[in-house]
Amino acid sequence: MSITPLMPVYPRCGVRPVRGEHCHLIDEDGTRYLDFASGIAVNLLGHSHPGLIGAIQQQAATLMHVSNLYGSPQGEALAQRLVDKTFADTVFFTNSGAEAVECAIKTARAYHQHAGNTERYELITFTNAFHGRTMATISASNQDKMHKGFMPLLAGFKYVEFDDLAGAEAAIGPNTAGFLVEPIQGEGGIRPASDEFMHGLRALADKHDLMLVLDEVQCGVARTGKLYAHELYGLEPDIMATAKGIGGGFPLGACLATEKAARGMGLGTHGSTYGGNPLAMAAGMAVLDAVANDAFLAEVTDKGERIRARLEQFIGNYPDLFELVRGHGLMLGLKMKVESRPFYVHLRDNHQLLTVAAGDNTLRILPPLVIGDAEIDEFFDKLSAGAASFEAAAG
Ligand SMILES: *Cc1c(COP(=O)(O)O)cnc(C)c1O
Repeated sequence: MSITPLMPVYPRCGVRPVRGEHCHLIDEDGTRYLDFASGIAVNLLGHSHPGLIGAIQQQAATLMHVSNLYGSPQGEALAQRLVDKTFADTVFFTNSGAEAVECAIKTARAYHQHAGNTERYELITFTNAFHGRTMATISASNQDKMHKGFMPLLAGFKYVEFDDLAGAEAAIGPNTAGFLVEPIQGEGGIRPASDEFMHGLRALADKHDLMLVLDEVQCGVARTGKLYAHELYGLEPDIMATAKGIGGGFPLGACLATEKAARGMGLGTHGSTYGGNPLAMAAGMAVLDAVANDAFLAEVTDKGERIRARLEQFIGNYPDLFELVRGHGLMLGLKMKVESRPFYVHLRDNHQLLTVAAGDNTLRILPPLVIGDAEIDEFFDKLSAGAASFEAAAG
């Protein structure tokens, strides 16, 4: 037997964390890492937030799971909170980002099919998008590496160049149900869509009665300094997927929709055994208690601006390594002039700094939103030392 007990689908690295303390991870051999990856934009509150731990402990001891056969005071409370804070009128809870996007895709299709327009099932999606790893969500992405071995794809997706509004308009046809887009591409390399593109999609959706579906699984939940990234653009979607940060580390996602957009999602149309169970709702509520307020969001914006300014200054010292800084709030990308993955490995293995590699030779900088000045200084110490030793090693 040579296959590993853990199905070998991930190229796992040598860091083997066993404990977390605020913005640091401690490895099984005791090595301490500064965590500017946050479990890929998940651990908004860091690793040992008393509010989140307390909420989960208390709920676990009270009631963990009952199924959606019963009424859910816990789910109603969190859904109401999200409805109060966002464009949405209604919420479906899931256990992951891909499931949240799945629900969003189904909601967009059902919007048209409910009205008898059965031919309108196609979503226009964008190059280098990442929407998850289920059959529908890999079909929604143009990335061949995610398709290989899993053909045939699900029908009903048409790919257009990201940020190409004319291309999106040209792709609209009799089968179009809507657009599915990340306002800021995460895996694609922290690439924010332009204002013109996002407002153009909104206008096209309004003109042609299409659903504007946003995938805010990575950029949502206070990461950009707004509760949701579309607020940066000053527009509202019809349907939105959220996950990653919303549970602060507990597996939780949600599909949010307006009443109009959710017209096809009636009794019996969708479901999930675990989705929205009391334990998940307690985690989600604790996260929103911490982040969904103006003071916290303003701090994220402020910390993001300070890090960004220092990054801009820093990259000036290494004109051969770095091209530019992009992103919003604490969702920042350092686009490199060389491959970003070796630098990410170098920072991790030689300077105990955890970041995330992404597409377009970008290094993702995704700290917990609760970082303080000490962690920001530690980050720049490690990054500067890392860039110097990386350049020296490269000759
Ligand atoms: C991570 C991610 C997903 C998938 O979330 P999972 O929880 O891994 O299923 C979907 N969309 C975006 C934008 C993501 O970053």
